[in-house]
Amino acid sequence: MEMAGDKNLPLQESNLVFGEGNPDCEVLFIGEAPGFNEDREKRPFVGRAGQLLRKYIRDLGWQENSVYITNIVKRRPPENRDPNPEEIESYKPYLARQIDIINPKIIVPLGRFSMNYFLPLAKITRDQGKLFKAGKYFILPMLHPAAALRGNEAMKMFEESFRKIPSALNKIRTGEFTEITEEPEQSKKEQRFEDVQTKLF
Ligand code: URA
Repeated sequence: MEMAGDKNLPLQESNLVFGEGNPDCEVLFIGEAPGFNEDREKRPFVGRAGQLLRKYIRDLGWQENSVYITNIVKRRPPENRDPNPEEIESYKPYLARQIDIINPKIIVPLGRFSMNYFLPLAKITRDQGKLFKAGKYFILPMLHPAAALRGNEAMKMFEESFRKIPSALNKIRTGEFTEITEEPEQSKKEQRFEDVQTKLF
């Protein structure tokens, strides 16, 4: 695989965790970076946070492998630290190609790093659970499941937002969300960013 042989990519000391699921899926979940368990198993979201994510996917009545799950950074940063901007930038072309191949109806970024990849000015607590359009893709950002595990309030938020996925998907499928209107409460600065186009609900 091309990415496995790309020695210019950072974090070479850990394993490549490409992603898994159905490349023909409608829903693409994108986390931050692999952690300890993911590095060991070379699979995304298999630790505690991953178990929560996978449970919620099943609770929607979906098979885990009917969606696709990956991360913005494909190797584990040491001590599970946050991925830095250079790491995110380095893996960007591969993530972009992955998204392009999958061509999902909706992308669900998990946590602020993944959300800000698509929506640079969005704020996770303010904007999680809202549907945006960034370029050709619909984006429904959520809290990271690890954050949901840290408190009841966050868990409730995560759960509520997660339950919005099927209805958002239906509206996208039926074309109800094709009209893009300017977001009225956006600041001037935000309006300059073409990729934060519309908050749909
Ligand atoms: N957290 C992430 O962001 N991704 C994983 O794959 C696991 C934990």
